Amino acid sequence: MAITPAVHASAATRQRTLCVEPPREGFGGAVKDGSADDPTLEQSARQERNLADALKEREGLYTPLELPGPPNELHADVPNGSVAIPVHVHVLFDPARPETRLTEDEIASQMTELNRAFSGDAQSPDTPFRFNLADTDYTANDFQLVVDTPRFDTIKKSLNKGGLNELNLYVANPSTPEGLELLGQASFPGGAAEKDFALIGWDTIPGARGGAMEGKTADHEVGHWLNLLHTFENGCGVPGDYISDTPPEAYAASGCPTIAVPGPYNPFHNYMDYTDDPCMFQFTPNQVQRMADSWVGFRMPVPAGRSVPATHDTITVR
Ligand SMILES: [Zn+2]
Repeated sequence: MAITPAVHASAATRQRTLCVEPPREGFGGAVKDGSADDPTLEQSARQERNLADALKEREGLYTPLELPGPPNELHADVPNGSVAIPVHVHVLFDPARPETRLTEDEIASQMTELNRAFSGDAQSPDTPFRFNLADTDYTANDFQLVVDTPRFDTIKKSLNKGGLNELNLYVANPSTPEGLELLGQASFPGGAAEKDFALIGWDTIPGARGGAMEGKTADHEVGHWLNLLHTFENGCGVPGDYISDTPPEAYAASGCPTIAVPGPYNPFHNYMDYTDDPCMFQFTPNQVQRMADSWVGFRMPVPAGRSVPATHDTITVR
């Protein structure tokens, strides 16, 4: 499916009147709760300026897309299915629990799910991205991985492979320094390759937790890795998630709310909300465009002899 003309949200285009409030009942928050560590408004605004600057710096390396919307906004034309991303899987397992050492088949099923989500279907647009398993390594340490620690930085420095165009996907049992269980975490693009990563819980892969998990934590984290924010980012205020076709959402949803949402795209079904795996099955066309722009701006290898954009700070999100 061709990418629908789309623009990033601006203060003028984001409709504040349309704000979805998910039901509060049943909201646990512990498992996926990363809101305290979500990027601040200032950080997300900086990331947005970085993206605009990076696209400008790389003008000439890609075909610009003419889209309606604010003048001087650059967008990249990246054909669907044209970007093959090598994936290096790093399994940090507990030797006393053999089930935490994911098998080849389990990793393959996660790769299948990633490619399914990013290939689109009747409900979700196709994207430029496909994922190829490059290699897997196993480490019998650090299964109980605490994020945002020097130890995790040391692990990444030791295990990361490739440049910013390659995905280093960590599998462990992650938690926050405060002891909250995490489903996953990822870095936004634009930082240093030695700190770049996506991370998923070992029991988020397809079929885990008695079949409750479908591997969509990886879809969500790779969405962050390609510069998507949560659909509830900044609540109902501008600039929201910098996407003009995701309805503003007051806060993270959980479970699978059934309340009606106007328009074709329901944030409860978006990979970038916090709903249960069977409930999330959509990116929006503008999210796909933002991922394509971010690929070109931050991750696409630059031909030898061409200019390279400045490296920006790494921001991690859950
Ligand atoms: Zn997230």
